[in-house]
Amino acid sequence: MTNAELVSLAAQHVAPTYGRYPIALVRGQGCRVWDADGKEYLDFVAGLAVCNLGHCHPAVVAALREQAGKLLHVSNLYHIEPQIRLAERLTKHSFGDKAFFCNSGTEAVEAAIKLARKYSYKHHGEGRGEILSFDMSFHGRTYAAMTATGQAKFHKGYHPLVPGFRYLPFGDMESVSAAVNEKTCAILVEPIQGEGGVNVPPGGFLQGLREICDANNLLLLFDEVQVGMGRTGKLWAHEHYGVTPDAMSLAKGLAGGTAIGALVATDKAMAFEPGDHAATFGGNPLATAAGCAAMDVTLAPGFLGRVTEMGEYALKGLQALAARHPIVKQVRGKGLILGMEVDRDAASVVTKGLAAGFLLNVAVGKVIRLIPPLVVEREMIDRLLGFLDGALKELAA
Ligand SMILES: *Cc1c(COP(=O)(O)O)cnc(C)c1O
Repeated sequence: MTNAELVSLAAQHVAPTYGRYPIALVRGQGCRVWDADGKEYLDFVAGLAVCNLGHCHPAVVAALREQAGKLLHVSNLYHIEPQIRLAERLTKHSFGDKAFFCNSGTEAVEAAIKLARKYSYKHHGEGRGEILSFDMSFHGRTYAAMTATGQAKFHKGYHPLVPGFRYLPFGDMESVSAAVNEKTCAILVEPIQGEGGVNVPPGGFLQGLREICDANNLLLLFDEVQVGMGRTGKLWAHEHYGVTPDAMSLAKGLAGGTAIGALVATDKAMAFEPGDHAATFGGNPLATAAGCAAMDVTLAPGFLGRVTEMGEYALKGLQALAARHPIVKQVRGKGLILGMEVDRDAASVVTKGLAAGFLLNVAVGKVIRLIPPLVVEREMIDRLLGFLDGALKELAA
């Protein structure tokens, strides 16, 4: 089937929840994908920070094939070998002691919120359930995660929201100190905000959150769904800031393109007991086998160092563009999550990119966000910078 045929079939049968581009992607390898008409694209979206190892990484594909021939699903009433192996990897390579598995980022955030309220109930009793989160954050689309999201556009039409959430300006420690009271239960924050426009926290902010949580016995929850799994050049984004949370939510890049979510927590924070939380498909053999393979590739010597190197190369290139194009307000990010903010709507850059053979993404209207596979190569970055140079000139005109 062609792009046009698939687009028209989709219009008849698929719920219109996305503003989709008029192509269907049917094949991928590394940093390249192909649409139904055979056109090739360089991918700077990576399935929204999911395909960190590139499309169809051979180690992930092999793990999936092997597991698919052995066991696809069993209930969490029983122990699941690949799930145990992935939990071992996650806890060995993080602050955490235990991992809970689910199927998506929003579920991982829901688990974090439930854990925080359960912890608070255990330590402080009833009546202390308020979660502080931040303006321009994104935590997912199910009810509590959507409510935690500090952007009104995601709430419109969905009231009443879940009670017990409060939003504060990202990076403003004073407002956090003023907001913490006898109702506060936890602070939920992305170490670097992704959907909100690639916002890096000001120095000392995450430390400040850690201190206020310690002083009040509150859980500090990091949402690493987008910036975890090596995206920033370290396995976890919070490593850049020398601060560890009590629990973190993971998903996107965790299983090399397979649906998964996880909540990793310290033993002290792990307030769940048997029966407290569950997910039928959570930690299923297929997803967790893929997760083990993906983690092994990410942790192999040199992998993360290369992410830092490519990130710095791309950042320098974007900075050079910013120096030449006055419509660029700022370039920011870490590793391979980079944002270029322009002073106007940048949607046309994405459509021009498609025509020119690049998959691109814009966050909050004006931030061209680069989240390529972490295996992106210098020559691909050069090609993108060349395209952006022309696109920025046209956008300014
Ligand atoms: C994408 C994202 C989510 C939601 O993940 P889904 O898998 O779409 O539910 C949550 N938090 C952050 C930081 C994200 O980037």
